[in-house]
Order: sequence, then structure tokens, then C-alpha cells
Amino acid sequence: MATFALRVFAPGRAGAGLSARGRVAGPYLHLEAAGLSLTVPLSALRVKAAGFDGHQWLLEWDSADGLCSALVQSEAGIQALRASAPAPLARQLQAAGRRAESRRRRWHLALLAAALVLALPFLALLAFWLNAERIAGWAADRVSLSQEQYLGDMAFAQLRPQLKLIEQGPALDMVREVGERLTAGSRYRYQWFVAQDQQVNAFALPGGYVVVFSGLIEQAQSPEEIAGVLAHEVQHVEQRHSLKSLLHGLGWRALLSLALGDFAGGVWANLADQLGSLKFGRDLEREADRAGLQALQRAGIAPEGMAGFFERMARHDGGRIALLSSHPAPEERLAALRAAIAAQGAYPAQPLPYDLAAIQAGL
Ligand SMILES: [Zn+2]
Repeated sequence: MATFALRVFAPGRAGAGLSARGRVAGPYLHLEAAGLSLTVPLSALRVKAAGFDGHQWLLEWDSADGLCSALVQSEAGIQALRASAPAPLARQLQAAGRRAESRRRRWHLALLAAALVLALPFLALLAFWLNAERIAGWAADRVSLSQEQYLGDMAFAQLRPQLKLIEQGPALDMVREVGERLTAGSRYRYQWFVAQDQQVNAFALPGGYVVVFSGLIEQAQSPEEIAGVLAHEVQHVEQRHSLKSLLHGLGWRALLSLALGDFAGGVWANLADQLGSLKFGRDLEREADRAGLQALQRAGIAPEGMAGFFERMARHDGGRIALLSSHPAPEERLAALRAAIAAQGAYPAQPLPYDLAAIQAGL
């Protein structure tokens, strides 16, 4: 009969127990440890499930010196006891086995519950992150025009101190007039601005704020190029891209605030920070390009300026130009733009009546 390891606790012996070898022979359990040799009738043993998750068995028996016990930690030991146990002990072993099993099950359930509790916030975050675009879109659909306008007003008010706005002049007139042609009949009430800033950039805020940087006007080679950028930018308003991106950036607090109908809360205090990172994915940029081309056609403005400007900016210095870093312009986007212009076909367009050189000189 094979031997197995166990730990023996006996009166007058080390509290931590003695490392021993056990062996079942006939109706006896033989235990051998350093300086200790015991033979215990199997019928004298009482069995309890023990250990962290009930995987161990504790045997107890009464000796002349008092209560003794042995902890059977190995599966081999448990099997050996089970195989040779007399009927009364076998029943105890069975009962101990069942108790151990139910303890194991409870322990595993507890572990599972703890893991779930720990993982829940992460799962919620993951779900939110995976669905953030969709959630932001869902939320944007529930924002009324007047709420959107209010958001845009607050965002622009926060941003305004950072902008050196040009109050009047031919550059602002051109932007306003071309912008109004491009947005005729829109449900938004647009406001047009030119900011003194060397960046080649333009952006649009929810509700209809459009800001063009003087650097962009200086880099343009025709009024049609500026019209192309404006046509693209206003689509980020028309298609509510700016609103969705803003809601996305503000995250769950914005959604909660919307759900509660609370537009006065502190959630909206840092809109300007969010606006700094307004970024649209490739699909939204394509959408803005396509719809922008249609707006140019409705306004009777030649479409080549839009493609020409983006192409020239990409060729020159894609990385350093803000408009392109927030509006990624890979080759395929330009190709798609050119294809869309070709598909649109020629339409009558009068050259825009602006002296761009004079406007640039006045900046
Ligand atoms: Zn864009």
C-alpha cells in the first residue's frame, strides 16, 4: 500500500504539527514521523472537510493523552482512506466529501462574485468605450436645436478670450458672404468669424459658429479654396458632428446631465477644453466632403477649390498644419473627393467676386 503525506497534531507536540507519512493497512492507519509512530484504528477516526476550499481532510481521534488530529492534504491520501475505510468511517468520509464539495462550490461562487464586483466598473467602462460613438450619437439625437445652440453659445463664450477676432474688414465680409451662400435655408443661424492666427485652420461649433484663422486665408490661392473649406466646415454643424464629438468628449457626465435636462450643471464648464480636441473620424470627414460639395453646387461655386486646397496643404506640410492634423487627409480621401467632383459633373459657376490678394494684404 502506497504511503502519503500528512501533518500530525498531537498533545505535547509542535503546534504547527509534524510532517508525517501515512499508510492504510487493514483496519489501521499507520503514521510515521520523526520520533513518533502511531497506529490508529480506522474506526476511531472522525473526519472533517478542511482547508481553504475544503480540499483537505482533517482526521481526529482520541488518544490516552488527549485529542489528536492529522491533516490529509493529498488526493492520494484521501483516496487511500476512502478505499479501505470500514462502513462507519466510509459514511463519515462520504458526508465529509459532500460538505467539502458544497464548501468548494460556495467558495467558487464567492470568488466569482468578488471577481464580478471587481470587474463591473471595468466592464461598464469597456461597454461605454466600445459604444461611445453610438451613445454620443444617441444623445445628440435627443438634443434639441435650442439646447445645441445653448451649448454652442457656452462653448464659444469660453473660447472667445483665446481668439483675436477681427471685428471688421474685407476678409470677414468675404467669409460671411460666402458662408451665407453655402448655408442658405439651413435650420441653423450661423455666425462667422475671422481670427488673427497664423495657423492654417478653421473650425465650427455646435449651433453654427464658424471660425476661420487668418493663416488659412493667407495660404489660399483663390476665394473658391476658402469656400471649399467653409463648405466642409459647415457640414460638421449641419450633420451635428461637432455636437456628437463634444458629447463624446464630455462622456457620461454630459449624458447624465442631458438625461436630467440639466444644462446649468458644472459638466459644461470646460467645453472649451473639449473643443481643442474636436476630431472627426474618416467617415465623418468623407460625409462633410460629400455634403460640402453638394452645398458648393447649390451655391453655384466651383468645387475644384476644395480639393485643390486640401491637396496643396497635404503636399506642403501635412503634419504641421492644424487643419490637416484634425482633418486627416490621406491620399484616398483626396481621391474620393476628386471622384465625387467628377461624378457631380460640370455645373454653371461664377467666379467668386473677391480680390483675394487685396484681402490677404489687409490681414
Ligand atoms: Zn472636417
